[in-house]
Amino acid sequence: MEPTAPITQDVMTIPRKTDDTGKRNLVGMTRDQLRDALIAVGTPEKQAKMRTGQVWQWIYQWGVRDFDVMTNLAKPYRALLAENFVIEIPEVVTRQISEDGTRKYLVRIAGGHEVEVVYIPEEGRGTLCISSQVGCTLTCSFCHTGTQKLVRNLTSAEIVGQIMVARDDLNEWPEPGTRKPDEARLLSNIVLMGMGEPLYNFENVRDAMLIAMDPEGIQLSRRRITLSTSGVVPEIARTAEEIGCLLAISFHATTDEVRDKLVPINKRWNIEELLKSLAAYPKVSNSERITFEYVMLNGVNDSVEDAHRLVDHIKRHKIAAKINLIPFNEWPGAPYKRSSNNRIHAFADIIHEAGFASPIRRPRGEDIMAACGQLKSETERARKSKRQIEAEAGLG
Ligand code: SAH
Ligand code: SF4
Repeated sequence: MEPTAPITQDVMTIPRKTDDTGKRNLVGMTRDQLRDALIAVGTPEKQAKMRTGQVWQWIYQWGVRDFDVMTNLAKPYRALLAENFVIEIPEVVTRQISEDGTRKYLVRIAGGHEVEVVYIPEEGRGTLCISSQVGCTLTCSFCHTGTQKLVRNLTSAEIVGQIMVARDDLNEWPEPGTRKPDEARLLSNIVLMGMGEPLYNFENVRDAMLIAMDPEGIQLSRRRITLSTSGVVPEIARTAEEIGCLLAISFHATTDEVRDKLVPINKRWNIEELLKSLAAYPKVSNSERITFEYVMLNGVNDSVEDAHRLVDHIKRHKIAAKINLIPFNEWPGAPYKRSSNNRIHAFADIIHEAGFASPIRRPRGEDIMAACGQLKSETERARKSKRQIEAEAGLG
């Protein structure tokens, strides 16, 4: 399916503050790191806590990038900060707006790499889908990102910076000194469902999410942040303990044989091990169900037997779950087709009758290739060939 032309595409070049001056970027530092950085440039220890709180609030609550605007700091102190630090977020290269209102930003990070960030407006909320890596080292055979060879972990600054980029574009920073009520927010939810496997970049993802949750900053509740993983089992317990956000699992198959092909990390941690780790995910309650993501691939994982097996797995392990069915989003060279609507609905019915919520995810922003699994920096040159993709999917 050829994507139709985007409705609008404007190229924005936000001037980038030079980073070859050796100045450190304050964005992405934890509170402790920020405090240490301020002390290192001469902030008296006695004042460090207060100064950390003030600078933090300017950066994350009011979106200020210029030290001169930080009027509750003395002028010479502002100059000291400006001499030593920058407040820098990724640079927006392009912004596309879909006919359904979805916005896709291509942002550039250090080294000239590009990642995609997608904003999805919905009734009563707005979700930002952010990336954790450039590309992905895993090679799920249905995923566009997995065909991209080049990989590097994003820094915590680049991860939280994606949220700040969207807040800039949505013009959603409150006036300094004020707060925006939660219910009035355009950007109310975060999903770590962009490019990359977040649990292969655990520390940076954790630090960025703790910044996003901080009550004196971006202020997103942990219940409004969902981390999606393909199943890095040892890091799942850590996610509960150290981040405490909601969890989504890229489940996608009901037998190890099929899951080995679709989600190759299954060869390392199989379905049983994964289910055990999910059952143990602490803090699981009715309001904190684990989301099982299940991509619907025609003739591969969409049978009636699959639906029953899926339900059995979840029940056997007594996991509080909802199942999110994702119609496969095609991309150039993809070795699969989307299941028919009839199949998807029949599958959903079986799950629903078994007592689980089974929403079918409506593809958003397809016209701008912003839907799940379509993300891949277009400018990325290092790509795998169609043959390689098919061979890895076990189809070659
Ligand atoms: N790496 C993480 C998060 C990114 S992928 C993970 O795998 O969970 C976000 C979701 O989109 C995952 O469930 C992924 O399996 C799904 N996805 C990937 N490619 C897709 C495609 N082409 N169509 C539909 N969903 C896809
Ligand atoms: Fe990586 Fe997730 Fe895509 Fe798999 S589905 S290749 S883990 S981004």
